[in-house]
Order: sequence, then C-alpha cells, then structure tokens
Amino acid sequence: MRDIGHWIDGKAVAGSSGRFGPVWNPATGEQAAQVALASVEEVNAVVATAKAAFPAWRATGLGRRAEVLFRFRELLDANRKEIAALVTAEHGKTIDDALGEVARGLENVEFACGAPHHLRGGFSEQVSTGVDVTEIRQPLGVVAGITPFNFPAMVPLWMLANALACGNAFILKPSEKDPSASLLLAELLTRAGLPDGVFNVVHGDKVAVDTILTHPDIAAVSFVGSTPIARYVYETGTAAGKRVQALGGAKNHMVVLPDADVAAAADAAVSAGYGSAGERCMAISVVAAVGDVAEPLIEAIAERVRKIKVGAGADPDSEMGPLISREHRDKVAGYLDAATADGATVVIDGREDPVTAGPGFFLGLSLVDNVPTTSAAYTDEIFGPVLAVVRCETYADAVRLIEESPYGNGVAIFTRDGGAARRFAFEIGVGMVGVNVPIPVPVAYYSFGGWKASLFGDLHMYGPEGIKFYTRTKVVTTRWPDPASSSVNLGFPQTR
Ligand code: NAD
Repeated sequence: MRDIGHWIDGKAVAGSSGRFGPVWNPATGEQAAQVALASVEEVNAVVATAKAAFPAWRATGLGRRAEVLFRFRELLDANRKEIAALVTAEHGKTIDDALGEVARGLENVEFACGAPHHLRGGFSEQVSTGVDVTEIRQPLGVVAGITPFNFPAMVPLWMLANALACGNAFILKPSEKDPSASLLLAELLTRAGLPDGVFNVVHGDKVAVDTILTHPDIAAVSFVGSTPIARYVYETGTAAGKRVQALGGAKNHMVVLPDADVAAAADAAVSAGYGSAGERCMAISVVAAVGDVAEPLIEAIAERVRKIKVGAGADPDSEMGPLISREHRDKVAGYLDAATADGATVVIDGREDPVTAGPGFFLGLSLVDNVPTTSAAYTDEIFGPVLAVVRCETYADAVRLIEESPYGNGVAIFTRDGGAARRFAFEIGVGMVGVNVPIPVPVAYYSFGGWKASLFGDLHMYGPEGIKFYTRTKVVTTRWPDPASSSVNLGFPQTR
C-alpha cells in the first residue's frame, strides 16, 4: 500500500499520527493508497514552521516574489499532464476535464504574478500643511486553505497563488479523498524557488481542520466545500478571531426562455449538468424550462444524454467518469427513488446503464422531469449526474424559484432577448450569472463567489478580492517637521 504523507518545510514528510484515510481509484473501485491524517501535534508543528518562515518571505522584495510565481507558472505549464493524471487517478474525472482544471488554476497564478501592481497602495499629499498619508497593504502572516475533493488542483491554486504573492506563509489542508495533486504543486513551488516553510501541505480530517480553525498563530482561513462545513468553518474560525472566507455548496439553475435556441441550450445543459459527473459547484443541476420550450428541450437533452460515453477518466474516449466514492454514488442514485416517490418522471435512469454495475464508482446519466420543488431531488445539492427539469409557466415563476433557493452560487439564462437577459442579470440574487453561458466561472482577474448559503464571509475568492483577503491595510500619516514652525499644541489634530 502506497503511503501519502505531508509536505513540510520544503520536503515530503511521513505522517506520524498512526491514522490514515483510504484513497480510492474510483474507476476500478480499488484502494490505491492511504493518506496520513495529521494529529493536533503535527498541525501545531506545521504552523510553527510556517510562522518561522513568514518574516523572511514577507521581507522578500516584490520583484523576487513575482519571479518565484513566474517560475511556478512555467513549471505548472510544463507539468499540466502530470497534475491532470494525478487528478484523474484519484478523483475520477476525465483527462480533458482535469487538464481544464489545471488551466483554470494556472490563470490564478498568472494573475498573482502581477502582485507588484496589485499591491500598490494609496497616497495623499498635503492632507494638512506638510503632512502626507500613505496606505499600504501588508500580508496577514500564516494563512490556511481547506479545499474540497472536486477540484484538487484548481481550488488550492485559487488560494495559494494570491496568498503567497501577498507575502503570507500558507498551509494547505487538501481533501483527504484526492491528496496527491497538492503534493506535486508543493514540489513545483519548491523547484520554483519558494523558500522552505512558506508553503506546506498537511493532510487530514476534522482533527486537522479544527486545529487550524482555533490555532492562535493562523490569521486567516480560506475554505471551499459543502455548505454545512462552510458554515461551521466560518463560525468556528471567526469566533477564534480569524478572517474567514468559506465557500459552500450550490444548486444552480439554468433558465431557458421560449425564444432560446433549443439545440444550443440542450448542448449547454448536458455539458454543464454532467461534466465531471455533476461534481462541480457550478454544475447546472436544475433546468427551469419556461413555457412551451419544455417539450422540445427535454427531447433534445435526452437525445444527447443517451450518446454520452461513461468510462474510466484515463480512457480518452470517456466523456464522463465515475463518482468520488461508492457511498456517494449510492447516495446520488437514491435521489432517483426519492424523485419517483415524490411524483417526478424519470426520463432516463442512470442506474440502468450497465456501467453502474461495474467495479468502479460509476453511475449513468439521469434526467428527471417535472421534479416537485418540495422533493429532496430538487432541494438537496445532489452533486452527481442527475439533471432535474422544473417546468415554469412564466419568466417570473423561474425567477421566484431561484430566489427561494437557499443557495446563490451560479445561474444561467438562455434566450435571444437581450432585454430579458439584462433584466435577469440586474434582478437575480445570485453571485455569478451566465447569459447563454452555462458555467459562468469568472476569469482570474475578477473574483469567484456565490451569495446566500454558497458563501460565508465578506470577500470572494481569487482576483482582486483575493488580494484584499490576504492583506490588511495600514495607513501611515507622516510629517517631516520644519524646526522653524514647530510648537506645542494640545488640541486634537485637525486637517483644516
Ligand atoms: P466537504 O465539505 O465534505 O469537505 C471540504 C473540506 O472540509 C475537506 O478538506 C474536508 O476534509 C473538510 N471536512 C469535511 N468534513 C469536515 C468536518 N466535519 N469538520 C471539519 N472539516 C471537514 O466537501 P467535499 O465533499 O470535499 O466537496 C464538495 C462540496 O464542495 C460541494 O458541496 C460543492 O458544491 C462544494 N464546492 C463549492 C465550491 C464553491 O466555490 N462554492 C467549489 C467547489 C466545491
């Protein structure tokens, strides 16, 4: 059995807690490795390492910090396939999909290479006679990132690129389900010239997370994962005095208006609904079909779904891979029973796909029509290859549906009517909106974040808000005294 350990102080380190978690190959259903689960003492030691490395990194010139990131960017580019292969082996997603994840993560590093520009402060000359004010952005210290299984390379890159560029020391606690990609990222950072101890990976479960959330030497925590854990991380971390951004789960709707191009909308619904087996926080899980577009749209979606090839992610012919675990696969399949019991129509039942019987954690694609909004198949984030259709009489009905959802991560509208699309973008209560774009993940120079139960905290992730999250401002008021005009004055300082 292969053992997966931590990355501490610039090198691979075996776990010492004696506790391990299984790492599966979802395509075969076999255990491929075991990952060390850190103890409280191990996490404390990593924090001490990061704390010791912080002062020198913080004092390192901006140009030098950017240079390390530029080199890291080149190494990421050269190692795309290796990273993607690790993601596919442990997560199960197809190689193409894994390469896409690496490419989107790389964009975040490219943004962070501009740190010397992003960290420019403000300056006001002569706020009072002979007095100037400078605002500067400084790093927070030791910051931590806790990441989910579904993007084992991209989500760590969302966080670490900006955090390091801003001069922080970083501790990554990746998902224990697919831990290997993070270790390759750590190795590449070291090869890029990042000083030892500035970036560390500690694997673990709740023990590691709780230690991070309450450790007095950790200034801030970025989290991405499910809503109940995001809420817990936000509440626990902020109660311990930390800055926290905690991104949670989602239930993303795609509104299709009667004037939409049905073929294009069906292509988008299938791509965004079943890509990565539906295990994306920006996956479309509900199609809100407005008016008489429903019949032709469902037909067009079904026609496409029947052609999708499900198989091992490493097989270049596969379009959709397995789910992350057997338990998750069975849970997702259970929603088809719930939907049926609640009166929905299962148009395509993924359980009937022969691939579902295989040894891997596969589940065929399912399409469910007329899903009642009271059914768990509608209210829960299923996080699997199940696309629900809710029929809406009017545009207003579709908007109401979305407004009543507790989540607000992504949403899309498909229409040829620019006025309707503009109105939708203006009024909808969701953080990321696509107009004829089913997965509107912002590019790296904007920021990523949902509303409502999809994000706890004030700042979104990566891009300009990421720079804000990983820095705090300091305002310096300066007077160079002129001995000729100096005098004692006990009044409160005024500017005029
Ligand atoms: P998860 O919440 O189970 O795990 C996320 C992280 O929290 C992992 O590192 C895990 O080890 C840790 N964790 C799990 N249970 C914990 C507990 N009880 N106490 C402390 N820590 C715990 O999420 P997941 O299953 O890995 O990822 C899928 C979820 O992430 C989905 O809900 C998806 O929507 C969400 N997600 C959201 C975004 C976003 O940007 N909003 C992006 C990707 C994934």
